[in-house]
Amino acid sequence: MSIEKFSNQFVCDLVAYEPGKPIEETARELGLDPATIVKVASNENPLGPAPMALDAIRNSATDMHIYPDGGGYKLRSALAEKYDLGLENVVLGNGSNEIIELLCHCFLNENAALIAAEHAFVVYKLMATLFGANYVEVPDPNFVHDLDAMAAAITDETRLLFIANPNNPTGTIVDEETIDRFMKKVPEHVIVVFDEAYFEFVNDAPNTLKYVREGRNVIILRTFSKAYGLAGLRIGYGLGAPQVTQILQKARQPFNTNEVAQRAALASLADVDHVQATVSNNAEGLSFYETAFQEMNLEYVPSVANFILVNVGDGDRLFANMLKQGVIVRAMRGYKLPGWVRISIGTKTENERCLSVMKEVLATF
Ligand SMILES: *Cc1c(COP(=O)(O)O)cnc(C)c1O
Repeated sequence: MSIEKFSNQFVCDLVAYEPGKPIEETARELGLDPATIVKVASNENPLGPAPMALDAIRNSATDMHIYPDGGGYKLRSALAEKYDLGLENVVLGNGSNEIIELLCHCFLNENAALIAAEHAFVVYKLMATLFGANYVEVPDPNFVHDLDAMAAAITDETRLLFIANPNNPTGTIVDEETIDRFMKKVPEHVIVVFDEAYFEFVNDAPNTLKYVREGRNVIILRTFSKAYGLAGLRIGYGLGAPQVTQILQKARQPFNTNEVAQRAALASLADVDHVQATVSNNAEGLSFYETAFQEMNLEYVPSVANFILVNVGDGDRLFANMLKQGVIVRAMRGYKLPGWVRISIGTKTENERCLSVMKEVLATF
């Protein structure tokens, strides 16, 4: 018997988020050795966690019978210090994805709307749908958020407006001047969410912290999943004015971030060398792919993040055929880009392997 008629219709209507295909699953299905598989599908750090984080993870094992620090005091203090903010400005999440959900808990309902760009990170749409809210998608010419059009889309029912900067999966960014012009037009009843998951990869990233300091209704989301290499531990954070963070603190579970994650994240913040190595490996990898795609006459979107979006004609087919050879990329049909794939920047060896398999498969198209 179907239970659909007893459930919330807007939940039944959801198409579940499809993550990058896991290495173990691929190995199992194809009878491959997991060690030979290259996964460049989820924008993870190819250099792994920071060495200082690894120590913290190992050292935490014997304390795991104790609940985590629910207030996340040490990590929040370190983040507050790093950004010259107060403890009250910092909220922790089980990945920054959880903070996206908390924002929806706090501000969305069936009479509210969330605004995002057409090719924005797909989780915003999933969450708006989950809360029965109106999802307003604004066209993004050349894959860049159009902040003028997004401001024009604001109505009395708008509560959340997401600016993914840089955006995933496009790798594009909007500059500070554009953001400043936009912020002048945003009314008080709209919370602007700057999703800055790839912040560490960007040279001269726009200063959005000033809006937190001014006490505007904004929140900046950052994460330890990307440049810090802790995606498996699930830890991210939000920086906002107290009126925004306080309501989020009420909506979260008491122990939403675990103790291992808190300690590893704290240690990661101190491991400056690792972030530097990550960022420079990424810059080399990005230019490797850009040069290759130019030579191959493939359309791509110039990226400032740790991945690149490229038009191969048939993304599903490229994905499926590269998978057979143990290289996992991400097809973009879910983003209404069926011709495209997104490739995360790997190590030099991984990039070379990925490109050579890609060329081999494209030759069969
Ligand atoms: C990866 C990503 C996140 C966050 O991931 P978490 O692992 O939940 O911290 C948030 N926003 C964007 C745009 C991302 O690409």
